[in-house]
Amino acid sequence: MMTSYRDIPFFNYADHFLRQEEELTAVMRDVLSRGAYILQSDLVNFEKSLQEFLNVKHVLGVADGTNALMLVLRAAGIGPGDEVIVPSHTYVASVASIHFLGATPVLVECGSDHMMDPEFARQAVTSKTKAIMPVQLNGRTCDMAAIKAIADDFGLGIVEDAAQALGSRYDGQFAGTFGLGGTFSFYPAKLLGCFGDGGAVVTNDDEIARQVYLLRDHGRDASGEVVSWGTNCRLDNLQAAVLDFKLKSFDQDIVRRRRIAMMYQEGLGGIEQLHLPPSPDSESKNFDVFQNYEMEAVRRDEYAQYLKDRGIRTIVQFGGKAVHQMPGLGLTNYSLPKTEDIYRKAILLPMNTSLSDDGVEYIIETTKLFYGVGH
Ligand SMILES: *Cc1c(COP(=O)(O)O)cnc(C)c1O
Repeated sequence: MMTSYRDIPFFNYADHFLRQEEELTAVMRDVLSRGAYILQSDLVNFEKSLQEFLNVKHVLGVADGTNALMLVLRAAGIGPGDEVIVPSHTYVASVASIHFLGATPVLVECGSDHMMDPEFARQAVTSKTKAIMPVQLNGRTCDMAAIKAIADDFGLGIVEDAAQALGSRYDGQFAGTFGLGGTFSFYPAKLLGCFGDGGAVVTNDDEIARQVYLLRDHGRDASGEVVSWGTNCRLDNLQAAVLDFKLKSFDQDIVRRRRIAMMYQEGLGGIEQLHLPPSPDSESKNFDVFQNYEMEAVRRDEYAQYLKDRGIRTIVQFGGKAVHQMPGLGLTNYSLPKTEDIYRKAILLPMNTSLSDDGVEYIIETTKLFYGVGH
């Protein structure tokens, strides 16, 4: 096949608005002309829609995914002297949320699917461990049966960082709904993105929900009375309205992402220099929603440059460093060889709903050319 040059951004931020410009403008005009800026009906409506979507008891919109983690950890009573087990292959925010509560993050390895490895999590438990934070990375959910077994064996709480996994399921249950609480991010490039920062805490626990409700708005209860310490960590009503609109067609977005993953699987599956993420049609308890398409590639940097020269933008997640490899965080004494090996080879191919079939074909063909296969 002849392949001609195409420009394929990693994520098309403008298209995120422009492809539904009319509808989105109408949604925003409606909110703005009602003067409905903070904690208004659009937020309540979005929380209700997400609650139904996830089949969870409580949803609380908050400022962003990082603050969502801090609020739910705080509501769970995590603080100084407590250890929280978290994978090192994650966004720094997962670990920072533990740090900022004065608790101690304990970093562990991930497995060949790039998710927290439950065996390493079990070995990391000490008498100080209070919680496990599985990170539902790349749109996949961890082996929650194994993680629940650890939590049950040692009496630990589970707080899920599901920032990358809205709609992902394990054994039929949605990411974010397994433990004490789960968190989501609505950063523009996330599965469900708004036009700025946004996040949510979800929980089936009435007390966690009550605490987060108070914490996100200055400790004020439904009547407006200050009944405890709190802060300002609210989800803007305007963003909530946008999110509620986008959630209506979110199922189609997931279908599209899984379709792109299937095309990558079929096109790249035979290349032995690549280690692909689990295929959407693999026999497992996982239903993956592909926030990212993270694979491992031999000669990764050369491959990335080859794609870039041909108009295709890729990224190495989290700046190419696991959390324990980031200078300045005081965690560099960890040795996590599996994670470090993944970081030498990991690359994200474009994966978003602005990407066309032609674009995916072009990425596949260009990859085949680089590895010298199939021609
Ligand atoms: C995006 C992300 C966060 C943080 O979300 P923000 O809304 O940007 O604060 C946390 N954890 C993971 C794994 C993420 O990808």
